Amino acid sequence: MKAVQYREIGAAPEVVTVPEPEPGPGQVLLRVAAAGVCHSDIALMSWPADRFPYPLPLTLGHEGAGAVAGLGAGVTGLAEGDLVAVYGPQGCGRCAKCAEGKENYCLRAAELGINPPGLGAPGAMAEYMLVDDARFLVPLDGLDPVTTVPLTDAGLTPYHAIKRSLPKLVPGSTAVVIGAGGLGHVAIQLLRALTPSRVIALDLSEEKLALARTVGAHDTVLSGERAADRVRELTGGRGAQAVFDFVGAGPTAETAGAVASVEADVAIVGLGGGALPVGINTTAFDVAVTAPYWGSRGELREVLDLARDGHIEVHIETYGIDEAPKAYERLHERKVNGRAVILP
Ligand code: NAD
Ligand code: ZN
Ligand code: ZN
Repeated sequence: MKAVQYREIGAAPEVVTVPEPEPGPGQVLLRVAAAGVCHSDIALMSWPADRFPYPLPLTLGHEGAGAVAGLGAGVTGLAEGDLVAVYGPQGCGRCAKCAEGKENYCLRAAELGINPPGLGAPGAMAEYMLVDDARFLVPLDGLDPVTTVPLTDAGLTPYHAIKRSLPKLVPGSTAVVIGAGGLGHVAIQLLRALTPSRVIALDLSEEKLALARTVGAHDTVLSGERAADRVRELTGGRGAQAVFDFVGAGPTAETAGAVASVEADVAIVGLGGGALPVGINTTAFDVAVTAPYWGSRGELREVLDLARDGHIEVHIETYGIDEAPKAYERLHERKVNGRAVILP
């Protein structure tokens, strides 16, 4: 079968032929219908050899959806042909966090060598993929795998970040989204669906800001040195009660801190290497900064329910598997509007 693999540190991903996997006991084989292209893969492919944590070659794709194509011994409750989405941040299933469904915060994943598909384990950018346990599969129940697949990360990650700030996003409040890309354009829709907040989106180009407005941002601001002042102006000097930074670079974290109002939440989601120091003289009083990672199993179901009820819709561009390297190039050049999805 064909698979998109990162094979050599610093090189572009390649489409190669690899053996079709077979499900072992407890595993589920999926015929992949769609795999999303996330900016985290670009971050991963920029890590130097001495900091690269996974064995190569690595089949990419940590957003996956498809049809059940085979069941390993002992798997029950699924049938061939069932359409499902894959929960990526898989844990041990037994620790205190996993017991809550927060497998993204599994206490033992590192020690046990458990990695998400596409981020250490073979991923979804292939004709077939193995899923280690049926609990990692969520039924699509009528949703289209191609438009739904980005919700497993580009939907779930902002949902998880936004959900914890909901108590602050009361009527009259403002939420700021920095980076209206794959995650950001879903974040805007989630904020509109779940809160009465005014939503202000920041990005680097008019094209991205146009998408932000299309999906529900009330105001858009070009990112840069003057962005924080503009956000303050738009909020009558008060700033935002929650800021979601989907870039996470030094300058965007600085902007996030500058627009954060008293008691605001700032979530640094992007892997841009920036940080926001909190201090009595550097941020407004009682600002809380977090660095959330992906989301829980229960939250993925909630995100899919929101999509099923028509509250969120991912803007996608699709590519055949042979074009996957081109999709990564376009994402790297900031040319993708919404999410790129590979159809293996
Ligand atoms: P993307 O490329 O689709 O979107 C990023 C957006 O940010 C683009 O629209 C880009 O134009 C914009 N941008 C870049 N620099 C900017 C700046 N200085 N100011 C304002 N906007 C700027 O990427 P994505 O797939 O949505 O991922 C977003 C980030 O989140 C990446 O860093 C990714 O690695 C990270 N991520 C983190 C998690 C997590 O669990 N923490 C999960 C998924 C992705
Ligand atoms: Zn991702
Ligand atoms: Zn665990």
